[in-house]
Amino acid sequence: MRGAFITVEGIDGSGKSTVVDYIQQHHSDVYCTAEPSEHFTGGWASQCIESDETSPLTDFFLLQADRSYHLREEIMPRLESGQTVVCDRYIDSTRAYQRELLQQTDSFADRDGVDACIEPVMSRFIQPNAVIYLDVPADVALDRIDADDSYERRELLESVRSNYISMVDERSEMKRVDAQRSASDVCKGVSNLIELFEADLYDR
Ligand code: ADP
Repeated sequence: MRGAFITVEGIDGSGKSTVVDYIQQHHSDVYCTAEPSEHFTGGWASQCIESDETSPLTDFFLLQADRSYHLREEIMPRLESGQTVVCDRYIDSTRAYQRELLQQTDSFADRDGVDACIEPVMSRFIQPNAVIYLDVPADVALDRIDADDSYERRELLESVRSNYISMVDERSEMKRVDAQRSASDVCKGVSNLIELFEADLYDR
């Protein structure tokens, strides 16, 4: 039987890598990974996201290229062997972020146009069994990380957060976790959720 595929989502600074590191340390049977991947395709995607030289559309396609390679090389073999895989960021990061970023380019007139580009691509990838969404306001997240905390950045992260919250309201496999609590409480809460998801999937 295929392993459980669980993704961890949230805005920058919401605590995703902290949670995934904790899972790696406390669940020896779970395989943890992250997007962009550690493969050369992930290097390209990271380089482009971090620079101002490429357009959001270029970044979007590089992220999809990396996702495709990461799935084939790293994620699918583990899932096929029955192992649980936890991935820090996946298709819902694309939905939450690229919806905002692509709208700011000339190629797309509005949100419907962006969705018409994104959704057919997202539907081609394997869908996660469960999505854990770490919810924090942009102010809290930006205070945690040493990053650009300009008004534009806060505004972008608040819009991305609203996109995540709308998805949680619409999708039963997506669980919101209050990530304003202490890191230890959040990590233990997510760890319990993963055990519940695994039990639910493997007992069926
Ligand atoms: P992300 O991967 O979502 O960008 P990180 O896990 O890297 O976020 O966390 C960003 C910073 O916030 C790190 O310095 C981390 O130690 C800290 N942090 C993570 N979770 C919490 C929390 N629940 N409360 C306070 N600080 C946190």
